[in-house]
Amino acid sequence: MAATHCSACSKAIGFLASSTTIGDRVYCGDCAARVAADNKAQIEQAIRSALISTTPHLEGYSIAAYLGTVAAFSVLKFDEVQDWFADIGDWLGGKSSGYARKFADLHSDVEAKLKFQAVTRGGNAVVGVAFNVQFIETNSGEKKTFSNGDVINRKLLVSGAGTAVSLAPR
Ligand SMILES: [Zn+2]
Repeated sequence: MAATHCSACSKAIGFLASSTTIGDRVYCGDCAARVAADNKAQIEQAIRSALISTTPHLEGYSIAAYLGTVAAFSVLKFDEVQDWFADIGDWLGGKSSGYARKFADLHSDVEAKLKFQAVTRGGNAVVGVAFNVQFIETNSGEKKTFSNGDVINRKLLVSGAGTAVSLAPR
C-alpha cells in the first residue's frame, strides 16, 4: 500500500501517525495546525454544514466511508457550576435562566469538536453519538467550600463520542 505524503512538506505519514484532511489534501501533524489556521474559514463552514446524530444512519443519506471514532469533552469550572445551582430554582420554575443556556453551550461545544474531528478526517458527519454528563471532583487546583462542608475543586463535564463518516445523498 502506497504511503500517504503530507501535502505541505511531502513527509511520509506513517500508518499510525496522526493526519489532518482539509478539503482533498492530507497534512502531517507538524503542518496541520498552520494549514488549519490558514484555512479557518473553510473549516468553519465545513463544521457548520456537518451533520451530527445519535442515530447510526441519517434519512436520505448513505454512508460512503467510515472514518473512525471521535470523542470530545467540554468542562465548566466551579464558579460557573455554583451559579448553575443558584439558577436551578428558576429553571424548575420555568423561568429563563443561565442554567439551561450554559448547559446548551457546553453541549454545542462538544458537538462542534466532534464535527471538527470528522471534517479534518475528510468526513461530513458524526453518527451514533452518545453523550455523557458528570461532575468531576479533585483535591487539586482552585477549591471551594460547599454547603455540606466539602472543600473540593468541582467541575461539570460533558463528553460525547461517535463515528465520523462521509455521507452521500441517496
Ligand atoms: Zn507536513
